[in-house]
Amino acid sequence: MCGPLALLAKVGDTRFLALCTCGALHLVWDNATIRLHQGDLSGVVRALQAPPKGSPGDLQVSTAAGAVHVWLLSVGLRLSPPDFEAFREMLARSQERLHSRTAAPPLSAAQPGCRQLN
Ligand SMILES: [Zn+2]
Repeated sequence: MCGPLALLAKVGDTRFLALCTCGALHLVWDNATIRLHQGDLSGVVRALQAPPKGSPGDLQVSTAAGAVHVWLLSVGLRLSPPDFEAFREMLARSQERLHSRTAAPPLSAAQPGCRQLN
């Protein structure tokens, strides 16, 4: 069950990343909420710095018509270039905060509804 969220980083009231008592990370960006496995965050942050090309995985980044399209698992976000920068920074800040937490809940393989990235 999802309980109180521990905020890791936010860009605004509708854009934030938080650690939930369910053990998953809740990435909220406007209308979309994406549940991420804690262990996947560093890989996502790395991939957003240098998006992998031509490999159809759970994270895809492409640019078209002046917008950046980010697909994470089954959720797609269409971001303006400044929003993409804000998104990347928010995730990077979250990763730093997550690693500096002293009382972080242990990584759990059993997080219902939270599939790990391939
Ligand atoms: Zn939750």
